Amino acid sequence: MNPVSELVADVAVLTDSLPSQHQGIFSYRVPDHLQAAIAIGQLVWVPLRQQQVQGVVLAMQRRTVSGLRDLIDLVDPDLSIPQLTIQLAHWVAENCYTTLAAVLDLCLPPGMIRQAVTTWRATAAGLTCELGALPERERAILFYLRRHGELSEADLRAALRGSDANLRAAYRSLAERGLITRRLRIDPPRVRPQQEQFVRLTLPDLDQAIAELRRAPRQAAALRWLAERTTSDPPTVNELRRATGIDSTGIRALERRGFVQLVGREIYRDPLATVHPATDTPPPLTSAQRVAYETIVTALEAGTGGRFLLYGITGSGKTEVYLRLIARALRLGRQALVLAPEIALTTQLVRRFVARFGHQLAVLHSGLSDGERYDEWRRLRRGEARVAIGARSALFAPLPDLGLVIVDEEHEPGYKSDAAPRYHARDAALHLADLAGVTVVLGSATPSVETYYAARNGQIQLLELPERIGAQIGVDGLVHSRPLPLPPVRIVDMRHELQQGNTSIFSIKLQHALAQTLARGQQAILFLNRRGAASFVFCRDCGYVARCERCAAPLTVHYDTATTAEAGESVRVLICHSCGQRTATPVVCPQCLSHRIRASGIGTQRVAEVVRELFPDARVARWDRDSISGKNAHDALLEAMVRHEIDVLVGTQMIAKGLDLPLVGLVGVVLADTGLHLPDFRSGERAFQLLTQVAGRAGRRSEGAQVIIQTYQPDHYALQAACEHDYRAFFREEIAFRRALAYPPFGRLVRFVTTAATESICRRQAEQLAVTLQTYITGRDLVGWRLIGPAPAFFRRQRDRWRWHVLLRVPPATDIREIRLALDAVGPLYGWVIDIDPVHVL
Ligand code: ADP
Ligand code: ZN
Ligand code: ZN
Repeated sequence: MNPVSELVADVAVLTDSLPSQHQGIFSYRVPDHLQAAIAIGQLVWVPLRQQQVQGVVLAMQRRTVSGLRDLIDLVDPDLSIPQLTIQLAHWVAENCYTTLAAVLDLCLPPGMIRQAVTTWRATAAGLTCELGALPERERAILFYLRRHGELSEADLRAALRGSDANLRAAYRSLAERGLITRRLRIDPPRVRPQQEQFVRLTLPDLDQAIAELRRAPRQAAALRWLAERTTSDPPTVNELRRATGIDSTGIRALERRGFVQLVGREIYRDPLATVHPATDTPPPLTSAQRVAYETIVTALEAGTGGRFLLYGITGSGKTEVYLRLIARALRLGRQALVLAPEIALTTQLVRRFVARFGHQLAVLHSGLSDGERYDEWRRLRRGEARVAIGARSALFAPLPDLGLVIVDEEHEPGYKSDAAPRYHARDAALHLADLAGVTVVLGSATPSVETYYAARNGQIQLLELPERIGAQIGVDGLVHSRPLPLPPVRIVDMRHELQQGNTSIFSIKLQHALAQTLARGQQAILFLNRRGAASFVFCRDCGYVARCERCAAPLTVHYDTATTAEAGESVRVLICHSCGQRTATPVVCPQCLSHRIRASGIGTQRVAEVVRELFPDARVARWDRDSISGKNAHDALLEAMVRHEIDVLVGTQMIAKGLDLPLVGLVGVVLADTGLHLPDFRSGERAFQLLTQVAGRAGRRSEGAQVIIQTYQPDHYALQAACEHDYRAFFREEIAFRRALAYPPFGRLVRFVTTAATESICRRQAEQLAVTLQTYITGRDLVGWRLIGPAPAFFRRQRDRWRWHVLLRVPPATDIREIRLALDAVGPLYGWVIDIDPVHVL
């Protein structure tokens, strides 16, 4: 027989049962009956060894082949990943050092991917044979199968507590003698389209029908109600029942008589059904907005993949620019994707998008049910929804006509996934410009150092909105804009407070400002950076902070008994979490010889107590991860704040972002220093961003608001710059520091983290990897490659395990392929977390 040309599909199988280095791509013959229906991106069933697994079709071509197994079936014709998303998945897999399957997993709605389950049951012979004659394990298997009918291998394993290998031998032996038989069971997906029954009137003559229904007044009333409806859409069964009181028997009787017809139709679960659109009249753009808009639109129309940074202070009208751009993309027949930090999606932002785009909008975030996600996914895939707004993972939303991507608050570290695959949604979004000519717009009031640096070098085009908009309704009833000055920010030097005998955690200035704000009937926000609180050692008199001599990283307190961070007594040594160097805790300040040098640390609870002591009548609430959990609690607190049922809100990081609260007249930062001294090269950047964001919560509607920052380090450049609202001053200092130490963007980092039950094992693992890496670097004479560490991670213990890390620094332009080569060579790295271009090193 001559070899024939066959249609062959390359399929990435979605199973975790392959060895981790295996890319998991196999070829299958497409049987004739599937050839018309199959397409690239489709989710399909394929055979894999004894199993049946799901996979995604990556490519198809006619080839002369023999010996290929047949592709089994499509899973669901609707479930197909757009080509662009597959290309993106390839890129993410390569850049995150992970398998394609792991990324494709993120490209499908949750709950869709299934594995076939192997089950066993007894045959007729097996049901009647003599159990006593069998070896023990086989006897037990058959005993269970007789008793329960069919059981999966997982069930049998649990019941018999056997290992897979032993059991497999027993199954084989039983099956060979015809006592048991095997089957693949495929459970239905957890999520399915939701069907709704609609009632349609069919009768030709209403009067005659009503006459016929003399004895059934309920049915007659229902018919009349149907006939009198003015809308042409048929009502659902439930609507009919609610409106007329008819029950399901009555409806079935009407159907039997031929008066109505029941039609099943799919309805979408709509997560936005309960979201009230914001009141919205698109205002005329300011001149700065217009310049930004028109520049980006030019790229959008050309479709050649422009990249922009919209740098505009808080309240400068960035969102309005996004909304206009999206509207334009829609008119061009394209879809748009908006990425926003998770927290922003629970607040006012979504309402503004609903107001503008209504049913064209799909929303994707972790608060949705699987059913809602599935429906939003399909509405986008079918092109019925044209705008997707979501958190990080919405990057993988199926948008076949994607033309515009907006990454709001692009500096947010939350865009980087903290679980594998460790992708950075902003960086991946930027890559879409290369892949498909998508226009990518990054927006921020405090751009990340890397992004701003790229903008200065011309890789990203910089557009600015320099003024805060104070929207006003004019006498003509239209919205007018007028620049609103940013609130003044004052730094309070806590060293002086101590010298003046004030030992409270609130300075005299902050106490006065609080009193004033409360007297005016306004609200105050008190902010505490709790990340890494109580961790570094500083001098209360001169502000000196203990730092590593080699790395300049702040040294952190290492306690004998971990956790108890506030007990100044148990301090043993100071550790550098960058290079691992240990030094003794100083008893006197090396700078001013004061004895008041100790660890930092206060919590929101303590701050709230002090407010209550000073202002017994004030209504105080706390907002942090400990006191508030769940989306509803957030919303409730936010609502209470808006209704002015709270006077003073004490909170951590969470309150910094996105809140638009008109009555806030004072923002106080209780201790700015904590964030400044985390042993992370990005701590200055984070502190600047956070302080700027926090300050941005004040005076959003009117003038006269103030911001007070308390610190022991008033000269720190990040504080100074935040105080002056001066991003450029911050950037100048920061970029010089990064350059001096070859940190990003002047170097790329790869972070390796390992954990173990004891510190000595953990340390040994880290040391071994460091040796292997160093040998690789030396052996190949890799210029500019350097190891930092090994060292204990800043969060030294998590979930009862010790953590150590090693950092690899390579030159900035190092290709991902070179990094992968190194990882392959020193691997396999089982159990290691490998983070390429980490956003933090804590
Ligand atoms: P950002 O996203 O930069 O924080 P927004 O787009 O939310 O800024 O704008 C801040 C406020 O100003 C909003 O209340 C918005 O409705 C209003 N606004 C935006 N653009 C204009 C404009 N051109 N004219 C009047 N008001 C505007
Ligand atoms: Zn000192
Ligand atoms: Zn060091």
